Amino acid sequence: MSRFWSEVVQGLTPYVPGEQPKLANLVKLNTNENPYGPSPRALAALRAEVGDTLRLYPDPNCDSLRQSIAAFHKLKPAQVFVSNGSDEVLAHTFLGLLKHDQPVLFPDITYSFYPVYCRLYGIAYKQVPLSESFEIRIDDYLMPNGGIIFPNPNAPTGRPLALSEVERLLRANTGSVVVVDEAYVDFGAEPAVGLIERHPQLLIVRTLSKSHSLAGLRVGYALGDADLIEALRRVKDSFNSYPLDRFALAGAAAAIEDRAYFERTCARVIATRTRLAGDLASLGFDVLPSAANFIFAKHGKQGGTELAASLRERGIIVRHFTNPPRIAQFLRITVGTDAQCEVLITALRAILA
Ligand SMILES: *Cc1c(COP(=O)(O)O)cnc(C)c1O
Repeated sequence: MSRFWSEVVQGLTPYVPGEQPKLANLVKLNTNENPYGPSPRALAALRAEVGDTLRLYPDPNCDSLRQSIAAFHKLKPAQVFVSNGSDEVLAHTFLGLLKHDQPVLFPDITYSFYPVYCRLYGIAYKQVPLSESFEIRIDDYLMPNGGIIFPNPNAPTGRPLALSEVERLLRANTGSVVVVDEAYVDFGAEPAVGLIERHPQLLIVRTLSKSHSLAGLRVGYALGDADLIEALRRVKDSFNSYPLDRFALAGAAAAIEDRAYFERTCARVIATRTRLAGDLASLGFDVLPSAANFIFAKHGKQGGTELAASLRERGIIVRHFTNPPRIAQFLRITVGTDAQCEVLITALRAILA
């Protein structure tokens, strides 16, 4: 601790992102990156951006990208907010829409950035336990609150919530914002975008990091009623007017417009996930049903810490959480290519033999 630190900084417990190892040739299945590269059209758009115009600031309103996203989702640009990764969208959402007297509600097992933002912004929160089978139960959220947020599918469990349940929550909870973090929705859950028209308190947060294979570009966005979007814009313009640079604007729009590539690569990830889940089950893993690009599984006999360490010795990195204790035996395994998953299964077979 430094005597120069503000009181706010002294009280922070920052989020710890998954490791980005410097070693080459690792089978990297720990941060849910897409094993297939970005759309070739996105790469071409990025290359085309190298030039003299880089001396000029980018469009602070991101109009062209917001138009592409709006067209993709059949919305109006005024219903779209874009920012530097969905983590930044979430940060602005917590400050702009979830900071109220009542606590914001989210699952006890979920994206661990949510409590970090609450502490950063001094927001009261209440963690709602998942069911025995790691499911979000809507009835548990029907209490006074300053907002509700959860990922669909949830992370790190991968379990999806039916759209009918999302809508039941929206009908019951009209007095505060409901945020659905759809970081993984393209891998098999039901998107909630169709509910925006009827539910002005619904905000959907999305990212190009996973299904569009652009984690390195840092682009995320929110969809919702223009009134909610305006709150995010106000926070953004009080923080950083140019969160997206010229590369991010050009690359993201091209990736969104290449729907065929997006659909093809998502389908490949889903097919590999089905195979990987079956292989893990046959090795004695208890596998939660996943609608994401990762699998959450625990072995009947071997502990999570030992398994993660043994895989690491073999150059395979997966994510392991020691907290809360309920998930300490689980591994979160990103769905890689078929070849990567085969390397993983071969290693697990040797470790468990
Ligand atoms: C990966 C992830 C994000 C953040 O994505 P970025 O756009 O890369 O910041 C947000 N929410 C959840 C649940 C995630 O898993």
